[in-house]
Amino acid sequence: MIDLRSDTVTRPSPAMLQAMVSAPLGDDVMGDDPTVIQLQQAVAERAGKVAGLFFPSGTQSNLAGLMAHCERGDEYLVGQQAHTYKYEGGGAAVLASIQPQPIEHAEDGSLPLEKLAAALKPEGDPHFARTRLLALENTFHGKLIPADYVRAATDWARGHGLATHLDGARVFNAAVASGKPLAEMCQPFDSVSICFSKGLGAPVGSVLVGSAELIARARRWRKVLGGGLRQSGVLAAACLYALEHNVERLAQDHANARLLADGLRGITGVRVLSQDTNMVFAEFEPARCDALTAALAADGILMRAVYGGPTRLVTHLDVSSADVRRVIEAVARHLR
Ligand SMILES: *Cc1c(COP(=O)(O)O)cnc(C)c1O
Repeated sequence: MIDLRSDTVTRPSPAMLQAMVSAPLGDDVMGDDPTVIQLQQAVAERAGKVAGLFFPSGTQSNLAGLMAHCERGDEYLVGQQAHTYKYEGGGAAVLASIQPQPIEHAEDGSLPLEKLAAALKPEGDPHFARTRLLALENTFHGKLIPADYVRAATDWARGHGLATHLDGARVFNAAVASGKPLAEMCQPFDSVSICFSKGLGAPVGSVLVGSAELIARARRWRKVLGGGLRQSGVLAAACLYALEHNVERLAQDHANARLLADGLRGITGVRVLSQDTNMVFAEFEPARCDALTAALAADGILMRAVYGGPTRLVTHLDVSSADVRRVIEAVARHLR
């Protein structure tokens, strides 16, 4: 199967499974799982932060991060299409009594400073929730958020007494695409949540990084949220393996996404809307979407052509350049 639905679909490789099987373990709720400790330290160091905390999912890592920054009745500024707002079940509001203030994105994925400024609540007025945090996402729908913008937005936030959080589910893609070290991508933020179950190829796992104080608060919330795991070194070992073996190769996924976009551009009935890092967004002739999805599935290619909307195709470590050529050939054949 060639699965282009998401970069979450990767399966652990034999070498990754071997690393999991042979990891030294302890009880991480008691703080003595050596593999978890090693991962947390390695990721924090790479991200240029003091401390790290392992989570079973990015959703939980983002939420515990928000809870470590904000209290009940506080508010965070966040993109209208951001994962931490739209795709996490409203967790900040539901479980943490933190009010989201969604902001419309600009075309490049950024949140315009004038819109942020307009949404900032005056301090000391009991009418309003207290604006406490700016949350950004990088990459956003595959897009690399411009470094100048990140600098300006986080400077603006700090100038208004706000903390800053990055949903860096794919911040390694951002680092590889911009040719910059991870620490440089993370430097403007007080906290960053990093996924290992996307392009890095681990079956589960995210790490939240930040100051020692912030991570101590997040550890408490992680326990409250049900994320205190015991011999979780068995999972952390997969993330350590990914950190050591699967970061630089993200460049191949980006090259494969370019190859895919270029190939699709040559096919009548397909309109490529964008290609950034490992994601391609395309529109397929509406009347043929369902038939195309079914025909591709019969060919062993998983992607869901969305009727009347953008279809997302994602490359990852289980998709080779030969696979991409097969996909292009199959789409061309079925739309002919
Ligand atoms: C995948 C993802 C997350 C976390 O999702 P989980 O499935 O809970 O690990 C957070 N933010 C973004 C942008 C993501 O793509």
